[in-house]
Amino acid sequence: MSRVYNFSAGPAVLPEEVLKEAADEMLDYKGSGMSVMEMSHRSKVYDTIIKEAEADLRDLMNIPDNYKVLFLQGGASQQFAMIPMNLMKNRKAAYIVTGQWAKKAYQEAKIYGDAVEVASSADQTFSYIPDCSDLDIPEDADYVYICENNTIYGTKFKTLPNTKGHTLVADVSSCFLSEPVDVTKYGVIYGGVQKNIGPAGVVIVIIREDLITEDTLPGTPTMLKYKIHADADSLYNTPPAYGIYICGKVFKWLKKMGGLSAMKEYNEKKAKILYDFLEESKLFKGTVRKEDRSLMNVPFVTGSDELDAKFVKEAKEAGFENLKGHRTVGGMRASIYNAMPIEGVEKLVAFMREFEKNNG
Ligand SMILES: *Cc1c(COP(=O)(O)O)cnc(C)c1O
Repeated sequence: MSRVYNFSAGPAVLPEEVLKEAADEMLDYKGSGMSVMEMSHRSKVYDTIIKEAEADLRDLMNIPDNYKVLFLQGGASQQFAMIPMNLMKNRKAAYIVTGQWAKKAYQEAKIYGDAVEVASSADQTFSYIPDCSDLDIPEDADYVYICENNTIYGTKFKTLPNTKGHTLVADVSSCFLSEPVDVTKYGVIYGGVQKNIGPAGVVIVIIREDLITEDTLPGTPTMLKYKIHADADSLYNTPPAYGIYICGKVFKWLKKMGGLSAMKEYNEKKAKILYDFLEESKLFKGTVRKEDRSLMNVPFVTGSDELDAKFVKEAKEAGFENLKGHRTVGGMRASIYNAMPIEGVEKLVAFMREFEKNNG
């Protein structure tokens, strides 16, 4: 068996320890005589799995009692519709457009009401986070929406926008559990888990209870109502049971690693190795404004499409997978999520140094 260093933006690297544990439990989960894939989501043994997963997540993120944790399906993209359907009481919302995912959410919201773009960084290919300290937010906006970490462009909000009292909704898909957060600053925090937590197929929604109401937009399907899932503790219908089980294992792994403060320290250390090199390199350059750089997704270029392609190819041959940048931006991108070991980043930088020597 040989494992590569996987720099994929998602689905992405998972802790090896978690994968091994899951393998050990594959045929017989804790004496149940079956795999977690094969058991009823209404069974006692599964109930313990989902309850423990929620408890561990609450513990990790310090989630207050007046927030619900929902394990849903449909990916982060389904939330682009679910959020306006459930939250747009006045049919108005403010969107901060800092990349493609934010833009998709903004466009989807327009189907349901008056989505207003209150800030954007499109003018410089989303390479920075706009100043959001004094935005022109409509008085009657139901919420202010951000994509907190922009997976494709490698930017991250280091300070949350001043919402002027409005509810903040954040897509945290690619920075979920990468550092501590103050949940009380948000109305909704959500993310697909396949970036930094678990297997594709699960989306976690952390939502303040007062935002969960019967009062959804007309025509909202039952499956897209937060209240339905909240009232049933995420078991209204069959949940993505196996995915939740793996998420639960990752939560336990994170607790063992020391929790989110420890993860932040580790992630900063990892990202610094790469960013420091990009600053000193004559060949490779980071593409993001320094203050706004993500700890999770690091895009970089050589300035030549040909050299970029050569680098990606040679890196792959050397065991560094998925370094090709997003198809819409080109260049390279190293996603260095929680489960990427520091050796992976060190070895990547050593490889980049060598490549620069041979191609500089
Ligand atoms: C990947 C990603 C999405 C889309 O996730 P799906 O689960 O494929 O719908 C949305 N937002 C962000 C920030 C992402 O990184």
